[in-house]
Parts: sequence; structure tokens; C-alpha cells
Amino acid sequence: MRKCEMCGKEGSRMEANHKELGRIMVCQDCWSNLYDKNSMTCSVGSSGGSCSCCR
Ligand SMILES: [Zn+2]
Repeated sequence: MRKCEMCGKEGSRMEANHKELGRIMVCQDCWSNLYDKNSMTCSVGSSGGSCSCCR
């Protein structure tokens, strides 16, 4: 089974680029949590765009 790398919960996961942990797969809840805490980097910036998580 797929497990969230943050909380271990099984289910669908989303990819997150954590500032300290690197690329991890987390559940929706943890993804939102990381987003809220601004703990993610994102790949949008490298392609010349910008997003709310890398201001
Ligand atoms: Zn989780």
C-alpha cells in the first residue's frame, strides 16, 4: 500500500518538494499542512513562472 511519508496514512498521495526532506509523497492533509506552513519548494519557479508557495 502507498503510505504518506509524513504521517504514514495509507491512501492516495501527492508529491511535495519539501525544503528539508526533498521530494516526498504525502497525503492530501499533509500536503495542505506543508503548504500552509510554507514548507515546500516548488518546480514552477525553475520554469520561469511563479506561484503562491514560492513568493
Ligand atoms: Zn499524511
